[in-house]
Amino acid sequence: MLALEIVMTDPFFHVPAAPLVPIQGQSGGYPVRRIFCVGRNYAAHAAEMGNEVDREAPFYFTKSAHDICLSGATIAYPLETEDCHHEMEFVVALGADAFRVDAAEAMQAVFGYACGIDLTRRDLQAAAKDKRRPWDLGKDFEQSAIIAALTPKTTFGAIRDQAIRLTLNGQVAQAATLSDMVWSVPEIIAHLSRFYHLQPGDLIYTGTPAGVGAVRPGDVLLGEIDGLTPLHLTVGPAA
Ligand code: MN
Repeated sequence: MLALEIVMTDPFFHVPAAPLVPIQGQSGGYPVRRIFCVGRNYAAHAAEMGNEVDREAPFYFTKSAHDICLSGATIAYPLETEDCHHEMEFVVALGADAFRVDAAEAMQAVFGYACGIDLTRRDLQAAAKDKRRPWDLGKDFEQSAIIAALTPKTTFGAIRDQAIRLTLNGQVAQAATLSDMVWSVPEIIAHLSRFYHLQPGDLIYTGTPAGVGAVRPGDVLLGEIDGLTPLHLTVGPAA
């Protein structure tokens, strides 16, 4: 075995940290470690995409923590897409470790919740699906993980049938309730914790209701979930 004894002390260059997510009622921010996203977690959305919900197990894709974009921003219209879609989502933020937990204990790892948008380059995702390639170009890109301020779990209370809604230029585009999710939050955490050592800073975007659609430069988006801080986003011109 080759023992590598070189100890690095200083970074060769500086990598900017991902933005901290504001927390309702707290002065400190929430540092983001990883971003997991659930696919097809609302039956009506799976249907509008021509898919069926997989009742065997949830599935996931990921985004870089550096894709985080805070509510209130005006983003550049994303690169290399003609069909960038909004996906309004209920975001779960972890505040404790979870590894091989069952659903009954999974909620102990939850810190709080937020309104989020999983921006998606639908044309690139569709092209990847056609070629049985990974979704990264469609999902994991700069400013693609929009998030509003977190509300602590204890303030929000139980996840029930709270309304989740996305309004595009004043018109409601997506509307459902959190009870429409195929996989519940404890089920998702329990399942994901079989594959990862989940830790504080890990976010889970829990999937989107039906009504996804394209955004264009100049669009104004409002994302709302009962009991959470609303999300505001403006789409600017292409870079
Ligand atoms: Mn999504």
